[in-house]
Amino acid sequence: MVLKSLFALTGSEIAAELGLSKPYQGRQIYSWLCRGVTSFDRMTDIPLALRERLSMSGISVCSSTVLDKQIDSDGACKLALSLYDRNIVECVLLTDREGNLTACLSSQVGCAMGCAFCRTGTLRLTRNLEAFEIVEQFIHLQATASALGVISHVVFMGMGEPLANLGNVLKSIEFLHDPKGIGLSHRRITVSTCGLVPGIERLGKAGVPVRLAVSLVAATDKKRSALMPVNRTFGLAGLRRSLENFPGSRRLTFEYCMIPDQNMSQQDAVSLAGFCKGLEVIVNLIPYNPCEELPFSAPSRSQIRTFTGYLDSLEVPYTIRVSRGRGIKGACGQLAAKFQNSSET
Ligand code: SF4
Repeated sequence: MVLKSLFALTGSEIAAELGLSKPYQGRQIYSWLCRGVTSFDRMTDIPLALRERLSMSGISVCSSTVLDKQIDSDGACKLALSLYDRNIVECVLLTDREGNLTACLSSQVGCAMGCAFCRTGTLRLTRNLEAFEIVEQFIHLQATASALGVISHVVFMGMGEPLANLGNVLKSIEFLHDPKGIGLSHRRITVSTCGLVPGIERLGKAGVPVRLAVSLVAATDKKRSALMPVNRTFGLAGLRRSLENFPGSRRLTFEYCMIPDQNMSQQDAVSLAGFCKGLEVIVNLIPYNPCEELPFSAPSRSQIRTFTGYLDSLEVPYTIRVSRGRGIKGACGQLAAKFQNSSET
């Protein structure tokens, strides 16, 4: 198989792939990759002759290129990356009020889950991303962010369902976490799922203490199944069981995308409170980000106030997420790069 990228490999895997006689040279290259250096010429602690040989070899260090970059007035930056097969995937850099930088990464090209309120859901799944393609999103975003600082958090909330591509997501997390490399703490990595129960169970068993966010959106089977087809398979009872068994319950968040006329009534709040009961969870309220392809609208301030009033009276712990990147269609549920299959040259 042709080597497409050196990202997501360990130092020894790099040494083996490149046929290096000295294993430590693989570790040196690994260290440069973690600093975002993708040209052998710039890896100055490698002997010149070896650098020249590698540069001339045509080996691909990084498989993706930045095709487009959009910056919103709120500072959010969305990158469209062209992949080795000419598919396109999007990722977003977000800056919060304290200046923390978060990389929002995609795990698939498109998505098969078909959530009714999500722009990515209007696309079908093209393919899973390789681990190196996930890591490369981080590297491209870090290069974009260099003047602002170092990315401190990663959320798998971009295109795709991460738990449907768990093997590659875990491999990318291993690379991002390695204390000898990028060194992101597991606590600063959040994997977000629409509620793929077998994936939640596998993630729990993997023993990787990342945070888990579940996009709940509705807390009755009837409403949730209408908005999120995944619920027709597993149901809220199955989801609830998998969460009760998930190790480290303190790491759990429910994302609740607030959609007027869908899930913001007093009864919806009561159902949500009931589902949260007994779980150590915080609800992250996300005002719906509208897009022209879908029939939903954003909640007004007064609708949000009314709904949070219900939650207050029910003592449901919640935060309200400030949506960033709306102006560049980079906010939650808005990612939908136009795809180009390799056959469509
Ligand atoms: S919300 Fe997530 S799982 Fe659902 S369609 Fe969108 S990307 Fe897929």
